[in-house]
Amino acid sequence: MKKLLSGKYFPFGSQYYRAPSPHKSEWDRDLKNMSAAGFNMVKFWIQWRWNNPAEGVFYFEDIDELMELAKKHKLRVMLNTIFDVAPAWIYEKYPDASMITLGGKVIGPQTQPHRQIGGLGYCFNHDGVIKHFFEFLEAAVERYKNHPALEIWNVGSEPELTSSMAEMRLYADDASKINDMLCYCDNCKRKFKQWLKEKYKSIDKLNESWNRNYTSFEQAELPKTRNTFNDIIDWRMFFVHTIGENVKRRFETAQSIDKGNHPLMCHHVFIQGFPVTSTANDPWNVGQYGDLHGFTQMDDAMMIDILRSCAKGKPVISAEMLMLMGYTLDLPKYIDENDIKKLIFRGIAGNLKGFIFWQYRPELLGREAPTWGLTFLDGSETPWLKSFSGVGKVLQKNASFLLDAQPMKAEAAILYNPENQIFAWASTGNEKTATNSLLGYHKALYEHNYVVDFVHPKEIENGILSNYKVLLVPFPYLLNEKICVELERWVKKGGVLIGESYFAGWNLEHGHHEKIVPGYGLHKVFKARQGVVEPASEGLVTRIGFTKDNSYKRKGEKITDNISIEYFNINADSVLNEEYGVSIQITEDLRFIHKDDKVRGTIVKETLISEGAEVLARFDTGEAAITIADYGKGKAVLIGSYIGLPYLSDGNESNGKLIASLVDYTAAIKKPEIVSPAKVRADVLTSGKDLMLIIHNLTSADTEAYIKLPLKNISKLKEQFDSSEPAVTSSDNESVVYVKLQPKEVKVYRA
Ligand SMILES: [Zn+2]
Repeated sequence: MKKLLSGKYFPFGSQYYRAPSPHKSEWDRDLKNMSAAGFNMVKFWIQWRWNNPAEGVFYFEDIDELMELAKKHKLRVMLNTIFDVAPAWIYEKYPDASMITLGGKVIGPQTQPHRQIGGLGYCFNHDGVIKHFFEFLEAAVERYKNHPALEIWNVGSEPELTSSMAEMRLYADDASKINDMLCYCDNCKRKFKQWLKEKYKSIDKLNESWNRNYTSFEQAELPKTRNTFNDIIDWRMFFVHTIGENVKRRFETAQSIDKGNHPLMCHHVFIQGFPVTSTANDPWNVGQYGDLHGFTQMDDAMMIDILRSCAKGKPVISAEMLMLMGYTLDLPKYIDENDIKKLIFRGIAGNLKGFIFWQYRPELLGREAPTWGLTFLDGSETPWLKSFSGVGKVLQKNASFLLDAQPMKAEAAILYNPENQIFAWASTGNEKTATNSLLGYHKALYEHNYVVDFVHPKEIENGILSNYKVLLVPFPYLLNEKICVELERWVKKGGVLIGESYFAGWNLEHGHHEKIVPGYGLHKVFKARQGVVEPASEGLVTRIGFTKDNSYKRKGEKITDNISIEYFNINADSVLNEEYGVSIQITEDLRFIHKDDKVRGTIVKETLISEGAEVLARFDTGEAAITIADYGKGKAVLIGSYIGLPYLSDGNESNGKLIASLVDYTAAIKKPEIVSPAKVRADVLTSGKDLMLIIHNLTSADTEAYIKLPLKNISKLKEQFDSSEPAVTSSDNESVVYVKLQPKEVKVYRA
């Protein structure tokens, strides 16, 4: 990160300007106050509609003045080019600019709570519109490429198909809204067929995959239902390709003008709120481009690990820290110092190298007002601004260390597969069956102090598995032949594969369900195969429904529909009903779980037939539910249901303990070990001989913990906020730290 910055500082600050607010009369005072609060970075938006009001006419006076003020107050600037708000003249010049839904609705131009100036809705496959898109980018980069306050170009801001139109994403969580699927305009129809031609080369290959008898690509029907898997997967992956090509061109254009004088950033959206089915968001797709990566950070540990994984060594920052989400008369709770420390130091632990809060002032316009702000409406200081600023000071004190520091190496990985995400939507009507499975597995491992990476199918094909001891594959119905060949090789050489029901059950190349599951011959690796499969319980369908979730409000962790994270509807009655799903019982005690603890599976009860595997757990009706087999030098564990999904939705503790135990049982992974009555997370960052230890009480109760670190000879630690020194005992192979923690407290130590 150091080499991308103009000085030795840790990027820390806030979003400030999204025209036309805050009002001009406040700018000088606000930027002065930001600087005085210890901020060193500020983000301004340059918006296509606002700053390019007529064809060939650019208005940059507002940004010019802000850039000068930033310079005056010694703030480094991240300039964020915002393209989703196309000028009104674009829609006049191109009457066919708008995207069209499956239901035939012309959706642009429109506004959203967070896009008060309007202009949303044009199609990325309209070449006329896109020509002007890049003219605007060229003008913006040309204008500011030499400005002394400029630090980072954020030219890849939240690239996704729905361009900030939140409602257009919802069908991925509820297939009954499929009529909102984008985009069925003539340009998309034409380009999709071209893309098919490039992908399949010959019509025979397409016919083999889709199971059709077309005589030309022209005959290919655009998918209009979710009933035939390979065509709908292709249709959605076509838009992943569309977004990727657009982002790639942004970086090429900016690079050609800025000439590498400033780092170019790609700012990702999070997969929970931006499903690949509706938004074409695959972090690895746009992750190929740019010098550094940013993302919209929420109260979630998984996206940090996803971003670190897809950035492949390029620095990642929190480009939009969201903590005070809300709407008019639908307000967020106050945040305190520990809330702020939690997001920031969880980020630091995951290797984030900067934090930009969203936003300095509360919103003034429309339905997002009056929330989101670090200040009060009149710009005066809030208690949480003071806390945020205090955390910033500790970051600056440790800047040199933090910019170089690295977390412990991840030895376990989870597979993220965009095509499988789409398959999950097509098969269950809800992409969250896959996404929440990922979240459930990640949560279990996070709570047990594992450092976890995510891997992508393309990386598996390129041999990335040799970096890991364990691969977890939740909800693994769709893999592909290349992945399965790699999995077999890697397990044979010593890898540990942990998978769930219907492992590789879909044959992607030929578009049919596999006749033996696990598919592609992997039953020989698992030494077990699928027997009878039944629904996990009668209550299944209702449990997989997603609705707006009031329980989150009750817990004070409000999720807004703007952000569009919609979790399982946690119905109190069903949580109390222990009979939901299917009950799984392990045959012996494992590290974190007692054999009498009940694990819950959901969706299916897949009876496993052992062909040489040992049975590790049984359904309460006696059939094999989890098997483990040695294969070559490695191991393969097969779970005959879905256990990550209910861990996220219900928090059934046994599920999390089982997931962590399976990793512990099959692989020796170095990590901090916690002895505590509560859930406590510990992370270690190192740089040369320097070290930072971050400890976080994950619960809302007072607790104490002994943290055993796999590091020798730590004699003394100092807390970075209160200067306290915990008791440390150290030997030649480990050090043990004792801490007392208040509810949700975060402690940050340096050796
Ligand atoms: Zn289109």
